[in-house]
Amino acid sequence: MSHALQSAVKFQGRTQIVDLTSDASDDDQEGATHAKRPNAPLAAGTNHHEHTHQQQQQQQRQDDQIAAASDEWDDSSTDLESMMGDELDLSEDQPYMNQPFGFTSAEAAAHRARLHRVGADRWIFETATAGIPIPKLCTVFGIRPFLPIGDDDYYQLLGKAIRRELLKRQKLPQYNTIQDAARLLKTSKNIIVVCGAGISTSLGIPDFRSKNTGFYSKLREYGFSEPEEVFTIENFDMDPTTFYTLAGEILPGIQEWSPTHGFIRLLQDKGKLLTNYTQNIDNIESHAGIFPDKLIQCHGSWATATCRKCGYHVPGEKIFPDVEARKVSYCTRCMENASVVKARKRKRGSNSNSRTRRKQGAFDDDDSSDDMYDESEIGVMKPDITFFGEALPDKFFTRFNEIDLELADLVVVIGTSMKVKPVSEM
Ligand SMILES: [Zn+2]
Repeated sequence: MSHALQSAVKFQGRTQIVDLTSDASDDDQEGATHAKRPNAPLAAGTNHHEHTHQQQQQQQRQDDQIAAASDEWDDSSTDLESMMGDELDLSEDQPYMNQPFGFTSAEAAAHRARLHRVGADRWIFETATAGIPIPKLCTVFGIRPFLPIGDDDYYQLLGKAIRRELLKRQKLPQYNTIQDAARLLKTSKNIIVVCGAGISTSLGIPDFRSKNTGFYSKLREYGFSEPEEVFTIENFDMDPTTFYTLAGEILPGIQEWSPTHGFIRLLQDKGKLLTNYTQNIDNIESHAGIFPDKLIQCHGSWATATCRKCGYHVPGEKIFPDVEARKVSYCTRCMENASVVKARKRKRGSNSNSRTRRKQGAFDDDDSSDDMYDESEIGVMKPDITFFGEALPDKFFTRFNEIDLELADLVVVIGTSMKVKPVSEM
């Protein structure tokens, strides 16, 4: 899909484009320059005085925004690539659509629709011919028009934004009403349901990514700003106490499910459910009765847990008491093995002097701590939730590519923005 990017680069090479984007102005203020351009919509206001006042206010707002953007970009200007990535993410979460420096949301939507209709080359040609400055053109995709970067970098951003936009699916024009949706559900035979945190929040299970949930503030109490810091396999292996201190907060109450889980179950009961792909780790789909062969838990789940040392695999419920008690859950099989070793070593140890035993180092030679294990010998249990840094379940890829892709006649997406891998790539 490097097509769009190529277009942007090719576009950059044309001299008349450079002329269009650098229309001479004495004003060195980038925002103000844009405001004067004929294609920029005028600010509201009928009398001249009011108009000027509004412009001043707008200018002030603009200055503040530019200052903020400059600060952000200057902080880590060493890594332009990642700054661009961040800007693109921001453009999706909080698209810039302020006039007169950007387009209205309706204008931007019309531009994007046109891009999908005519393709990148044609669209770029048209907008360039219309004399739209590149920073302003970037606002079609929600990118801020006053970043402290040159046009060259804006071309790059534009190329990336176009590529991202063209990967997005477009709305099918023939389906518009609830009745249309109902008819699709009625007539489809192999329905895929993709779901995410949104279907469980009504049960009080926090969505990691919503920043105002109890879980998020808990994380901050412990000095973490992102869930990623806790749910990283390296961090878990280094120190599982953090996870076990916090995990109780996200342990699912397994007795209930939401009406949405009920809906997925209903599809299954009617023989229409092909596969339920869930990003949730709460395993509530299982409790709502979705059959294991119809359920793909894309990020794993609490349903089972595995020893990090010996691979001992247990039902998730086995570790729930530890999770609820906020303490690290250790592997019982490792413990059994360790106690055997311990007994043997002690026997042997009683024949040797204490110095040798201390040198062996693995075991405490104080008799009062008989039931203490050497922690390095005992594996920690980890719920089979996919942590950051761990491979996703193979089942996801084989099921999707080898079976579902061919069979599905309807996809229902509920409670997810589809931004997280692997569902973002489905
Ligand atoms: Zn073990």
